Amino acid sequence: MMGKSKPTRMSASVARVVRKRSAAKPTRPLPALSDAEQFLLPTYKRASIVFTHGLGAYVFDSTGKKYLDFLGGIAVNALGHAHPRIVKTIRRESARAIHLSNLFHNEFQGPLARKLAEWSGLDRVFFANSGTEAVDGALKLARLCGHPTDGAAGKKPAKTRILALQNSFHGRTFGALSVTATEKYRAPFEPLVPGVEFVTFNDVADLEAKVDERVCAVILETIQGEGGIYPVSEKFWERARALATQHGALLIADEIQCGLGRTGRYFAYQKFASKPDIAVIAKPLAAGLPLGAILTNNAVAARISPGLHGTTFGGGPMICAVALEFLNIVEDQKLLENIRARGAELRAGLEELKAKFDLIKEIRGEGCMFGVELAVEGAPFVAEALKRGLLMNCTHDFTIRLLPPFLITIAQVREFLQLFEKILTETPRVVPAAEVFSSKTPLPAAMSAAATVTASRSQLTR
Ligand code: PLP
Repeated sequence: MMGKSKPTRMSASVARVVRKRSAAKPTRPLPALSDAEQFLLPTYKRASIVFTHGLGAYVFDSTGKKYLDFLGGIAVNALGHAHPRIVKTIRRESARAIHLSNLFHNEFQGPLARKLAEWSGLDRVFFANSGTEAVDGALKLARLCGHPTDGAAGKKPAKTRILALQNSFHGRTFGALSVTATEKYRAPFEPLVPGVEFVTFNDVADLEAKVDERVCAVILETIQGEGGIYPVSEKFWERARALATQHGALLIADEIQCGLGRTGRYFAYQKFASKPDIAVIAKPLAAGLPLGAILTNNAVAARISPGLHGTTFGGGPMICAVALEFLNIVEDQKLLENIRARGAELRAGLEELKAKFDLIKEIRGEGCMFGVELAVEGAPFVAEALKRGLLMNCTHDFTIRLLPPFLITIAQVREFLQLFEKILTETPRVVPAAEVFSSKTPLPAAMSAAATVTASRSQLTR
């Protein structure tokens, strides 16, 4: 079991730190909390917990409490925490050169681009600093390609329309926000980039109705992440690919959350027969350091020339060395196999829970990316998990999202499933007024008492 018991299987140095911190429990509010309260922009509702460090699939808070991390920094910590090869690379390269400039070459950017080209089947790479920035860059590339080339200039109008999907999430900067469907993220900042239209998710007929010669890009998440773990269907993907080609538009796959191994394939789109023109990646790429990338083919790359796009920080030497090490670790440790095997165990376990609990409506996803859709709000379950030493979050109110690290073990999958079952059984929950529960397991007494209590929305939801 989790909780404040002495952590198992950790290095002596981490155990020492944990013991020291457990012994010195804070009696006053931690400055980290009071300063945050006073000085940070209130962009997140956060739990009053200060996390201090992690090791493998576990993180520890300032009281020494240990948590099994199935959130992974929202799909970032694919190697868990403090992976020795990542620590070693950061130590080595930070003592050499953290930043140089994109006016010069560094030792790692080219080799990292080569490896990403090999993984993706695409040809060229641009390094950015985050997912949203990679999406904005990809949209710029689409607009650039939509402008008629010299010979046709003046004869043909520029292609400026962009098709995105309902329920999408692509980021918070203006370009990425413009192709993000969720109204509450968009509305306060309108007007956004013009020319964007949303297609009903996986609806081929709607796509066909909305595509035309003025479209320069169709952008989609191969598996929608924030939207609740919804995979694009093969039929929709292949039709989007064919229509994009037919109309001279680019197909952009946002693989920021689902790419780089999370599905047990290098890229989620590799389950389909065709490739996108552009794939954008970020989250796990530099093992927790901020790095995004735009991957594209030679035809798109031929349209770009020096000065059209750039960044100060993107692709610095240290961060690229770390990203290269991340990709090498995935290969050396055969993590794709582990992701597929553990993902199958996780799914089997979740399906068993679904058979026991009527409140589980659907399990979606694969590999190290699952959505457990509940019939009730997920926030109380996330809060209960936190109390019991399990990190996970809830997206779109009803979907518990699970993003374990790629090196998750069989034992940790079991540990999660046992914890999750307890959480499902014992969490007081809010029953929607119209909902009649017919749980196959008897409802705990606490539940009926709690049914009238309105649970506060979790700090771990967005
Ligand atoms: N695209 C997808 C699919 C994402 O999940 C996210 C972040 O959650 C983004 C884009 C934005 O990435 P970032 O937060 O690094 O800007």
